[in-house]
Formats: sequence, structure tokens, C-alpha cells
Amino acid sequence: MGNDTAVRVSGLRKRYGDTAAVDGIDLEIACGEVFALLGPNGAGKTTTVEILEGFRRRDGGTAEVLGEDPGSAGRLWRARIGIVLQFASVGPELTVRETIAHFAAFYPRPRDPDEVIELVGLAEKAGARISTLSGGQARRVDVALGIVGRPELLFLDEPTTGFDPQARRQFWELIRQLADGGVTVVLTTHYLEEAEALAGRLAVLAGGRVVAIGEPSAIGGAGRRTRVGWDTPAGRRSVQTATPTQAVGDLARQIGGEIPGLTVTRPTLEDTYLELIGDRR
Ligand code: ATP
Repeated sequence: MGNDTAVRVSGLRKRYGDTAAVDGIDLEIACGEVFALLGPNGAGKTTTVEILEGFRRRDGGTAEVLGEDPGSAGRLWRARIGIVLQFASVGPELTVRETIAHFAAFYPRPRDPDEVIELVGLAEKAGARISTLSGGQARRVDVALGIVGRPELLFLDEPTTGFDPQARRQFWELIRQLADGGVTVVLTTHYLEEAEALAGRLAVLAGGRVVAIGEPSAIGGAGRRTRVGWDTPAGRRSVQTATPTQAVGDLARQIGGEIPGLTVTRPTLEDTYLELIGDRR
């Protein structure tokens, strides 16, 4: 594996009894990418990420993360990875600063805890006990703990669930800053707009498989059929076409001028996403 590949997965499988949670996933994520795993509940996102983090054994396939097999990689490898789990829990009695300083001490090259506190927007709460934080603030502590070790690769499992819209925007800004600093980010999310806002590429998972992969715009638009609509005396008409320019030209010639009520709509990422996961439900 070249040094510019952060994650490479081939034929990955994991079963729980009769459930194929991960059912043959192939993925390649380059260093420096922000990559999103998108999918409905039970799609296999968390299981996939936990295998990549070395927290879960796979039943089949190969996985390489920063050049090592996460199933057998050691402490040095672990220190190069940052993890923000879906449900993190840290002791309620310590303050924000104490908690972050405590975890910083586990790493060979930690960031300065106060710098991390600033970065995640918790400067005003640095002296507050964890038990007094709001849900969104506690989530920022989780993120702080994920980055305090100066990871090369950061896994974020549904990082903004429970955030208000403003907190979500601020969090996106933080992820962009980390990505600009060269950190590879793999995030799972239910939020399409989050994947669209952050990820250079995304994979849509459903039923333990990758059902689409690519840039958000490619998944949302290009190659998908565009709908051309117009008004007729008998009511509204529409056609779906892969060549909308030609369809509009043909229509203009037929009508002999302006087309009444002309609309040309590309499917959004959301339309495509719902179609993709709907097919598998
Ligand atoms: P969500 O968006 O709800 O977090 P997900 O995409 O992360 O979902 P997973 O948590 O990976 O999905 O679950 C995939 C499938 O595996 C689900 O059907 C789930 O019920 C099952 N599963 C996950 N963990 C276990 C477990 N420890 N024991 C048994 N089944 C499990």
C-alpha cells in the first residue's frame, strides 16, 4: 500500500448470527481526504468503522489502515489514529481541562490541551465539570479527546447528532481546519447535508454493502436522469431524460417559441440517496 492511501478495504464481511452487518465492502480512502459513510440505521456504518479502528474482528476480507492490519496493529499505530465514538463517556467529576490533559498524557506527541479546548470552542467551559455540560458541549469534549493525540487519521461516528444548527456549522468548520492541516477524516453520518458540506467523497451503505460511491455532486446529479417539465393546455407534463438540452430544444421547436412553465430539475443528493436506500429496503 502506498503512503498516500489511508484506508484500503476489500471484501470486508461481518456477521452477527443471521445478520450480515457488513456484506462485502470495498473501499479506498486517500490520505488527506474527508470521506463520509452515509446510510440508514443498521446499514453497517458503525460495524465497518469499528473494524477499521481495530475494535471489532472481521469475518472475512482484508483491511489496511495506515499501512497496518487493524486486527493486529499495536500501540504505535493506535496513537496515529483518533476516534470519536457514537456514545463516548468520560468521568463526570473532572473538568474539561483535566479530562483533556489526562488523555493527552497517553500519547507520544499530544497537542497542547488548551489549544485543543480553544479549537473545539470550549474555552469558556475549560474549568467546568463534565457533568454540567450540555449534550452538544459534551460531544465537543469527545471530539477534543479524538484529536488531542494529533492523529493522522480521525474517525468520527455520527459526530453532530444532537447538535443545534449553529453548533453543527462550527463543528464543520473545525473538521475543515483539521482537514486543511492534513488530517484524513472518516465520518459516518445520517445527515446528507453534513456529507455534502464536508466530504470530498462519500459512500452510501445499505444492507452492509456500498450502493454508491463518489463525489457528492456525482452521486446527486451527473449521470442521473434530469426531469424537464412544462405546461400544456391539458395540464402539466414532464419527461425524464439523460439529454435535457436536446429535450428542451426539441420541445421549443415543437411549440415554436417559449416553452410555458419550463423547469429543468436535476435530482438532488437526497432524491438519489432515498432512491438508493429505498431499492435495498
Ligand atoms: P446506525 O446508523 O443506526 O448507527 P449503522 O449503519 O452504524 O447504524 P451497525 O451498527 O453497523 O449499523 O449495524 C449493522 C447491523 O448489525 C444491524 O442490523 C445491527 O442490528 C447489527 N449489529 C450491530 N452490532 C451488533 C451486535 N453487537 N450484535 C448483534 N447485532 C449487531
